[in-house]
Formats: sequence, structure tokens, C-alpha cells
Amino acid sequence: MLQDRFGRVHDYLRISFTDKCNLKCFYCKPDLPLDQTDRPADKNTQVHHALCTSSASERLTSSELLSIAEDFVYKMGIKKIRITGGEPLIRKDAYALIEQLGSLPVSLAITTNGVFLDRFLPLFKKIGLNTINISLDSLIPARFNEITKTSTFEKVFTNIELAVEQGFHVKINAVAMKNINEDEIIDFVEWTRDLPIHVRFIEFMPFAGNKWEYDKVVSYKEILNKITSVFPIEKLNDEPNSTTKSYRVKSFLGTFAVISSITAPFCESCNRIRLTTDGKIKNCLFSNDEIDLKTAKRKGEDIVPIVQRAISAKHAERGGIAAFNTSGVEKKYEQGRAMISIGG
Ligand code: SAM
Repeated sequence: MLQDRFGRVHDYLRISFTDKCNLKCFYCKPDLPLDQTDRPADKNTQVHHALCTSSASERLTSSELLSIAEDFVYKMGIKKIRITGGEPLIRKDAYALIEQLGSLPVSLAITTNGVFLDRFLPLFKKIGLNTINISLDSLIPARFNEITKTSTFEKVFTNIELAVEQGFHVKINAVAMKNINEDEIIDFVEWTRDLPIHVRFIEFMPFAGNKWEYDKVVSYKEILNKITSVFPIEKLNDEPNSTTKSYRVKSFLGTFAVISSITAPFCESCNRIRLTTDGKIKNCLFSNDEIDLKTAKRKGEDIVPIVQRAISAKHAERGGIAAFNTSGVEKKYEQGRAMISIGG
């Protein structure tokens, strides 16, 4: 069992399949000049890059990744694994890897941008991967294409409909941002009227290069105020350790929720640990301290004590960085990786 010094049991592993993505959302994969992607190393922190700069030899092979996942499940009590990235479905060996992870005795879930989802739905059915999180920040095709710097809206939207039709539990992740998509909150909720989908508005979070400012966050309270001015809503129960605050508009088939990481964080119930594609453990999304597992795995050493050390070093909140509304705090969050190379 992986328990930290605050008594939090960590039984949920998020595995990043890759630090590359076929979409280019500015808040996740920022345009950084190359000289800004190098990060200093110190005794606690491995050298890493803000952006997706890992080379093939730095990345975990599929057998290393699988072996680490097995250690987590059979030796460290992990009960849930989420596959993420970058975009996990662009990894060349994604199909085989997902199939193998599907044989582990865990609840398996995935977060994807949905572009290649149709190719994987039969596999998901076969291995019983029933919950799919798909990112969609806008219901307006031109706006979506502008945010992602692609023309993939139709493909993603059709794949969402396909997954719902096939009976998957589909959650939609929409990062709510001022002057970008906050005017669509009501439309997203309206979408849940006749479709059993679960829209989750994520408060915009700060990472390297994403030009985050507190004032760009559409807060939990603002989101609820907008929705309650139009619809009668009811609160739903949230699972233990859930990051969401869930609601339903009365009589609607789907639900909506807010992930209030900035204005009402949920660190006290955190049970999550992250494995990056270059084999580092991140004990918190915001932590700049990373612990290398890959070297030990390649040497055939036991990784359990290393993971236990990573969990013991976990801070109470936000990787030990000051609160989001502290003046000048953006610079601290700039020092970590971009979200694309963490695995959200
Ligand atoms: N490529 C996949 C996808 O698009 O869902 C998985 C990886 S992506 C990093 C996982 C989630 O993180 C997405 O829903 C994305 O919108 C969210 N995300 C990325 N950067 C974020 C930020 N700065 N604030 C809040 N959410 C963010």
C-alpha cells in the first residue's frame, strides 16, 4: 500500500503513453522557443524538458512500461490505471499495450483527444474498458480547430457520438477559459439534455509556457452561476477521491461537473500518482520533483522502495508551491513541465 505522511493512500496510477500529440492546444503544448525547454538539474530533480523532447532511448519501451504497471498493481496496491499522454492513441504500439494493460486486475480508463478513437472502440469493448474521457473545448467547429490548430472537429465529434451509441460511459473534458470558450458553458450543458454524456468543466491550470493567469480561470462559482441562471440543477454524489463536483439538470439524460483544481482544490483526498513516458514518477501534477524509475527498472532493481520514497516526499498541496492566487506565483508553475509531457 502506498500511503503518504498525510495518510493518503495512493491506488490510482496515471500512465503517460507518449509526450507527443497530434493536436496543439496552447494551454497544453505551448509554443516555446527551444532554449526555454531546458530545465536545470539539482540533486532532487532530474533534468527534464518543458516540452516533448524525450528521445526514443529515454522513453519507456512497452515491456518496461508493462513491467512497471505490473509492479504497481501486484506489489503496490494500485486499483485503477488511466492511460493518458500526450495523445495515447498515437503511440505506435498503443493497441498491444492497451490490450496487455487490459489483462491486469484493475479498473482501466483512458483520456484521449478522440481523433483515432473509432479504431480502438472494438478493443475497448473486448477488454472491458468502458469509461472514456474525451477532450473537447468547443462545440463550434471553427473555434475548436483554432484552439487545436487542426481541422479535426468533425472527426472528434463523430467519434464521441459513436462511443455514446456503442454504450461507452463518455466523459467530455472542457477546459473553461476566459475569452476563449466561457460563452459555451450553457451550450455544453444543453448537450446533456438528450445524450447520456458527462461534461466536465476543468478550471484552467498553470504549466510551463501556457501563459496562465489567475484572471483567465473561469471559476467553479462562475460556472455554476451561469448554469443556475438558466437551468434548475441538482447535486449528485461524487465518488470518494473524485476530482469532480457533479450535477445534473433535472430531467436531462447526461450530467455535468466541475474540476475546481484552482478555486476549490481537492488535494486532501488525492490518491493519484503519475508515470511519465520517460519513466519518472510525479507524485503531484504540480510537483517539480521527479523520481526516476526507468534506470532502476533497466538495471533489474526493485522499484517499490523508490516509489515509496516518492510518495513519502509528497507535499500536502500543489507540489509544495504557493496558492494559485498568490501574486507572481505563475513563475513558480512555469518551472515544471508543460502538461503535454506530464500526462494530465
Ligand atoms: N491527449 C489527451 C487528451 O486530449 O485528452 C490526453 C492528455 S491531455 C494532457 C489530458 C487533459 O488535460 C485534457 O482534457 C486537457 O484538456 C487537460 N489539460 C491540459 N492542459 C490543461 C490546463 N492547462 N488546464 C486544465 N486542463 C488541462
